[in-house]
Amino acid sequence: MEGTPCPSPHPLRSSLRPPTPDPLTPDRDITHAHFQAGDTAVVLKGAAGGELWGDAMRIVAPSWHTPTDEDGWRLRDATGGAQTYITAHPRYLVHLSRRCPDCLIYLRAMEDYLLPKYTDGEAIVDCGWYTTTALGQLVHVADARSGS
Ligand SMILES: [Zn+2]
Repeated sequence: MEGTPCPSPHPLRSSLRPPTPDPLTPDRDITHAHFQAGDTAVVLKGAAGGELWGDAMRIVAPSWHTPTDEDGWRLRDATGGAQTYITAHPRYLVHLSRRCPDCLIYLRAMEDYLLPKYTDGEAIVDCGWYTTTALGQLVHVADARSGS
């Protein structure tokens, strides 16, 4: 007999997959001075519709990143709600406002690594690499482990 399309809705894919590690961001070599106030940048968090997905933010001012005890950047996330302002480490950031080789290399590496794993849909997949502390510090899972 003919197969019939499965009528059940797509389950949340992210909850069924094993977590995808992010070995690239922790190894990224980028200086604090690579960014400056006024730049726009994105924090990559996963994939959606065959492209990388993340949160776009505006870089506001230098700010100490306490989870890594290194210089970070204060960011304004227009869609961040209660956490409009967060502080991130430079290696979490990718330039949107200009195309620079340093960020493009990382972007391409993330695409090559991540997109083949998420080829089957338009759903947003948040890989869960980042958390935000009560003090508004954005922390990559690799930094959270080593910093506590
Ligand atoms: Zn850049």
